[in-house]
Amino acid sequence: MPIDHPLLTERHASWAGAFQPRPALRTFTVRDPASGAALAELPELGAAEAQLAVDSAAAALAQPPTLGERRRWLLEIAAELRAERDALAAIITAENGKPLAEAQGEVDYAAGFFEEAARHVESLAPTELPSRPRGLRWRIHHRPAGVAALITPWNFPLAMLAKKLAGALAAGCPSVAKPAELTPLSCIALFSLLHRLRLPPGTVNLVFGRAAEIGRVLCERPEVRVVSFTGSTAVGKLLAAQCAPGVKRLALELGGNAPFLVFEDADLELAARELLANKFRCAGQTCVCANRVLVAEPVAEAFAERVRVAVAALVVGPGCDPETDVGPLIDRRGFDKVQRLVTDALAGGARALVGGPAPEPIGGAGCFFPPTVIVGVTPSMRCAREETFGPVVPIGTFRDEAEAVRASNDTEYGLAAYVFTRDAERAERVAARLRFGHVGLNTATGPTPEAPFGGMGQSGLGREGGLDGVLEFVELQTCPVAED
Ligand code: NAP
Repeated sequence: MPIDHPLLTERHASWAGAFQPRPALRTFTVRDPASGAALAELPELGAAEAQLAVDSAAAALAQPPTLGERRRWLLEIAAELRAERDALAAIITAENGKPLAEAQGEVDYAAGFFEEAARHVESLAPTELPSRPRGLRWRIHHRPAGVAALITPWNFPLAMLAKKLAGALAAGCPSVAKPAELTPLSCIALFSLLHRLRLPPGTVNLVFGRAAEIGRVLCERPEVRVVSFTGSTAVGKLLAAQCAPGVKRLALELGGNAPFLVFEDADLELAARELLANKFRCAGQTCVCANRVLVAEPVAEAFAERVRVAVAALVVGPGCDPETDVGPLIDRRGFDKVQRLVTDALAGGARALVGGPAPEPIGGAGCFFPPTVIVGVTPSMRCAREETFGPVVPIGTFRDEAEAVRASNDTEYGLAAYVFTRDAERAERVAARLRFGHVGLNTATGPTPEAPFGGMGQSGLGREGGLDGVLEFVELQTCPVAED
């Protein structure tokens, strides 16, 4: 059934401070992943609209907002998000499929980024060196870097944009947002809220449609000085190549392949509980989901049994059902990938303790994958090398600490890792050797707005959250000043 909501009365791109109805040759359909039902039909926009959105943002560069204005806007946006929490959550669930409680958590998480960025605005005031090298006063300014392009994925349709937009607004950068084709509605709803605040025209702009065309414009226009992207490593590399001629700043939050290490002295109950909360969020479709569970040999069987029991109790269903623990995968492509990786593991000698391959999406059109635990996973299997992005727990084993560290680092990715042990010294030692940007010690929590988050290796460049997330959009300008 088409989605009907006061925050979605407009289904258009936005620039110059307003939604912009445009004739489009083609449209694309946004679907409910739980049923396959069409939610909305949107115009498929491209390079021309991207140019107009950049023009609008570039015009706003002429009058950078004061620090006070930025702080006020950020707090007002956070307040709007919190006031519309339930409405936004329903839209997220409709287009992404995640359970409503998770979607509500996503709205709170998104609001947190605006509040956190507001806390850092004052630190962007100019500073002056306490000493006077060369007999001069030296002032350091934090200038807006320029127009920011914000390209986001479908797994957190609201929060991934909120992280970027909060940093850009705090830094005084006008921006052009480009949400994923599968989930643009949360972003349109956010723009409905932004328009209520009457920010100066051009401060925030939105375009969606043909991604490659739009991406090229955003990377090539000289006014765009920062490209902030969250998505696959393949597209991140393409954007980096497209930005190289213009020497643009890049913030890339890319794919992960998170190891989840359980040592023989770990609290197995805690580790299993944390694994479940981490792994089945958004049906396993998050970049920080444990992708390889590696357990010390002596406790592997006991741990797998705990996990099996907990996973078997998970309720699969549409996100709007309050009983649901695990919603559908985003689409058939996502389902097929999970299916392939599970089938490959079983063909290679792994064994399913619960779940396993599903011949066809259960539930008809919705791509529900049965929550699955497989044991006997080895490092060469595809599920240990690629991001599974599904509700599958692949369990392998290690003999000692050195092997655990070696196996964890045996990937080009470096986003999140988790270590469970009662030995605090070991936890610190292992963390220091893991080449991952986020390492949970006896916790599998993901990022929080207050702390910097990002990847090492091919998981990305730059950080989101905390002051670092704001500084991604700032250029330092040093002014030596001669005085009479
Ligand atoms: P994706 O295919 O790379 O898409 C991400 C965004 O890039 C979408 O808006 C997409 O638009 C756009 N895009 C695709 N091709 C483009 C091009 N040639 N030029 C410019 N933009 C282009 O990734 P996804 O499948 O949506 O997201 C899943 C990936 O994101 C996973 O690898 C996950 O690990 C990663 N992720 C990372 C983090 C992190 O913080 N590191 C967080 C969440 C997700 P269309 O949708 O319109 O094609």
